[in-house]
Amino acid sequence: MSDSLPTRVRRGLSTLRSLVDPEQVGYLIFYVTNRCNFRCAHCFYHAEIAKGRKPDELRLDEIERIARGLGPLVQLSLTGGEPFVREDFAAVTRTWLEHCAPRFVTIPTNAWFSDRIEAYLEDVLPAFPSTAFRVVFSIDGIGADHDTFRSAPGSWERLCGTYARVDALRRRATNLVLDANAAYTARNEHTILSTLEALDRDFSFDNLSVTYIRGNPRDPDLRTSSRDAYLRVVEFLKARSRRREKRFLSPLWRAVDDVTYEHLTRVVFEDEFVSPCVAGRKLVIVGETGDVHPCEILGVSAGNVRDHDYSVPAVLASAAHRRIVETIRETRCKCSFECAIAANAVWSPESYPRVARLALSELRATASTSVTERKT
Ligand code: SF4
Ligand code: SF4
Repeated sequence: MSDSLPTRVRRGLSTLRSLVDPEQVGYLIFYVTNRCNFRCAHCFYHAEIAKGRKPDELRLDEIERIARGLGPLVQLSLTGGEPFVREDFAAVTRTWLEHCAPRFVTIPTNAWFSDRIEAYLEDVLPAFPSTAFRVVFSIDGIGADHDTFRSAPGSWERLCGTYARVDALRRRATNLVLDANAAYTARNEHTILSTLEALDRDFSFDNLSVTYIRGNPRDPDLRTSSRDAYLRVVEFLKARSRRREKRFLSPLWRAVDDVTYEHLTRVVFEDEFVSPCVAGRKLVIVGETGDVHPCEILGVSAGNVRDHDYSVPAVLASAAHRRIVETIRETRCKCSFECAIAANAVWSPESYPRVARLALSELRATASTSVTERKT
């Protein structure tokens, strides 16, 4: 069932405010839990995961207080740890959606908990028809390779079972997108292209993507990687999304992706500063115990929502947080965190000329692909 017209208008205005109001967070990443049933060698959150269940993990009633005071969001990412480890994950999601009405919700998952994932989607999809849910399966290799990369025997088989169930749901729902994302590390940089080709051939994921290894992984040797291999992967992903992309304004969204790849390449392989980072302003992280961070990389926090009456805006308005934001600006901070790079493409005016040029070239590429398809 779709929302009524007045509800859609209200939501549209909320989304607009979240996009254009410089004082309103547009993109929130919420760590549902630090817990995870896997122990991946490339995981940047491994030290927190190793601590197990935290006694001070935010409770549902606390999350409700945070969401109530946050204002509207464009994008909400519900991550961890493994989000589906948390027993009340559906209730947590409902709370955010009821108060912040995000246009897009992204949920990365290792896809182990088939029953929970299916029950969760059957619960939230019909309840929030105007929100686009993007479930992203983490896949780093095919079959036994995936099990090895994820340090989880049997995980490939579980993932395939979950895929079949979510795929069936996707055919009925209009607000579910099913994607796959591969961590790009030194261990799979020479096999990742064939992994993506197999995912493209044998599955029907809406989008495929890669996440460049970041932070302090459990195995630091995984950080090294090759520029040429990365660029080959990027070319494959761009061609695939051109072939399959059907979203409204798709050339524009693809241009944002293109700028993200381009900026990541310049930062990582040329050690270049590309654009000011909006982390701490339009993009904010709330950890599983309520610490507010500008991003996942710097490891800094100006405070915990529990000490600010559960108000994220109050933490962001604090002198300590303003100093962090100022330091990010003054030091011309740069990194490979794709979520921040994409947020910069959306909210840093310095990126707009490049986004506009790439949107035009994506439009031309789409037109020529259509002509070629019609001829063949
Ligand atoms: S599944 Fe994700 S959160 Fe869990 S250990 Fe692996 S990378 Fe980390
Ligand atoms: S550039 Fe990276 S490390 Fe620096 S503030 Fe932005 S997301 Fe954080």
